Amino acid sequence: MNTKRFDYQLFSSQIIQWYQANPRDLPWRGTQDPYQIWLSEIILQQTRVAQGLPYYYKFVTAFPSVGDLALASEEEVLRLWQGLGYYSRARNLHFCAKYIWHELDGKFPDTYDQLLELKGVGSYTAAAIASFAFGEVRAVVDGNVFRVLARYFGIDMDIATGKAKKEFEALANQLIPKEQPAEFNQAMMDFGSRLCSPKNPDCPSCPLQQSCFAFQQDMVKDLPVKINKTKIRERSIHYYVIRCGKMWIWNRRSKGDIWEGLYDFPQAEENSKLEEAKGSSLHLLDRAKKIPKSYRHLLSHQRLNAVFSEVEVPEQHMQILKDWADEKGYHLVEEEQIDYLAKPKLIVNFLRDQGF
Ligand code: SF4
Repeated sequence: MNTKRFDYQLFSSQIIQWYQANPRDLPWRGTQDPYQIWLSEIILQQTRVAQGLPYYYKFVTAFPSVGDLALASEEEVLRLWQGLGYYSRARNLHFCAKYIWHELDGKFPDTYDQLLELKGVGSYTAAAIASFAFGEVRAVVDGNVFRVLARYFGIDMDIATGKAKKEFEALANQLIPKEQPAEFNQAMMDFGSRLCSPKNPDCPSCPLQQSCFAFQQDMVKDLPVKINKTKIRERSIHYYVIRCGKMWIWNRRSKGDIWEGLYDFPQAEENSKLEEAKGSSLHLLDRAKKIPKSYRHLLSHQRLNAVFSEVEVPEQHMQILKDWADEKGYHLVEEEQIDYLAKPKLIVNFLRDQGF
């Protein structure tokens, strides 16, 4: 599709006019503080605004500046992030805050290229911070922008390819007006999420309707093109919830794990660790009672099906259990402290059903 036959200036001014007539009251919109904008953009990666908003408030309240976040412990940061998923975002936030605070003397990077150096900041987030906080003329390109451009300009490239990403980025950077980069970017994000939405876009009230290729050619449902090659792996987990009086056994997920730093329970995959306890008087596997309800949980590339078994260890075996947990690298945690552990949503849901 030759996009040159379209009036770029008209497109940009109509998008901005729509945005000005349909403002959205979001807390990070009224600020040019790069820290708060960065926080909001990281929270909103893979998260809807309604779900991310309470987390944004929690974070700016607990850590009002990049220094406050840098000086927090990783446990505190992960605990606050609990329930939002994709925990690498929280770990990267903390890592970058420490880097900015200790290595850059607390001065936030102020150009697109410097922002790209930050862990967890890709081209979209760097463009958003650079344009919103520093007025740099750099277009954001995410799923919303792909969709609006693909439909309006009739681009039928597979948006999952690197080639398409480059072309969409080049087009968006031609469309962005030099005098209003922040407004244009915000307009594109909002227009794509609220009006030109994936399902049921509101074409009847769209100001671009007359010149929109997809609308004119009855191809709204066909664009953008995305050939999904992601394979979802099914995985079963059997957790063992081991308790002795008010003490629980917890497993802290190790480095490189998708849930790195979070707490869950020993798993059946580690049966050998549980089996070894047979030699002592613990007999962990023999004591296990399966809980009837199973739990489903969707990760980016995995569908988890989790079942849980409870294991009650008599209190006279407390010392043996402690020694065993120490040796296997597990943590004994008092019941009152469980709430303070950062846990995956799957575990939070399980505990809620158990009355915690
Ligand atoms: S007319 Fe419909 S498809 Fe075209 S830009 Fe507007 S909302 Fe999107």
